[in-house]
Amino acid sequence: MKTLREYITWAEQEKIAIGHFNVATLEMVHAVIDALKIVREKTGKDIPVVLGVAEGEQDWMGIHEMSALVEEYRSQGLPVFLNADHTFTVERVQHAIDVGFDMVIFDGAKISYEDNVEKTKQVVAYARACGREILVEAELGYIGSGSDIKDSIPDGAGMMTSPEESKQFVEQTGVDLLAPSVGNIHGMVKGGNPHIDAELVKQIRETAGVPLVLHGGSGISDADITAGIKFGIGMIHVSTELRLAYRTALEESLSETTDLAPYKYLPKAHDAVRDVVVSKLELFIHYK
Ligand SMILES: [Zn+2]
Repeated sequence: MKTLREYITWAEQEKIAIGHFNVATLEMVHAVIDALKIVREKTGKDIPVVLGVAEGEQDWMGIHEMSALVEEYRSQGLPVFLNADHTFTVERVQHAIDVGFDMVIFDGAKISYEDNVEKTKQVVAYARACGREILVEAELGYIGSGSDIKDSIPDGAGMMTSPEESKQFVEQTGVDLLAPSVGNIHGMVKGGNPHIDAELVKQIRETAGVPLVLHGGSGISDADITAGIKFGIGMIHVSTELRLAYRTALEESLSETTDLAPYKYLPKAHDAVRDVVVSKLELFIHYK
């Protein structure tokens, strides 16, 4: 099985992107894995998937438990990787590395540039010294927060990351992956998400010299996603669309039955999430 780093290199060569899906319940995990199996089978492509848990999801799901689950999938021959998505303290990132995560994101979007560089450097040093291959990602430029549905684009979001600043940040910190602000924002906006600036993606990829990760992949048009991938996006995060599918299907299911057994009313939520993941994976590898 390829390492996550090898998969990302391969994805860039193929001009496709790896799907990163946030999970907050066990049936969401199953939905992502089932989708991965379906798309691998259908396309014959050896594609991987990254399961993401940000701080709230880490606390709810348990980081030891998530790590054990991912190890189990890999022992079954499935390329499943685990990311500590948006983690705000160096200590928490280190803990995730200790329990077996493959990838971490130290989120310094709300601290000063200097502090962000300093703490990201600490994370990179810890990752390099741990004896396993850990990818470290950092976010540069503010793209808002929260996997939810917003009335409008949040204040301050949409400040585009500059190619020069990206280069400087990567050189100073030694991160493996960069999440820039290129028109993307976290969450979905009523009335439509902004467009991705594909030319800026291209410039940042060339100047920064590391693969780029697109956060806030929910609500972005298929055409913008495809253009972003063509110009240097190697991984795409999807969370809000999964939460929306889950909740909508669960509400529907609960309104239809009074059954007490969770395995009777949860399958609809599972299937809805699975279908979104299938369609995203197919989009990211240009299959549909
Ligand atoms: Zn994000």
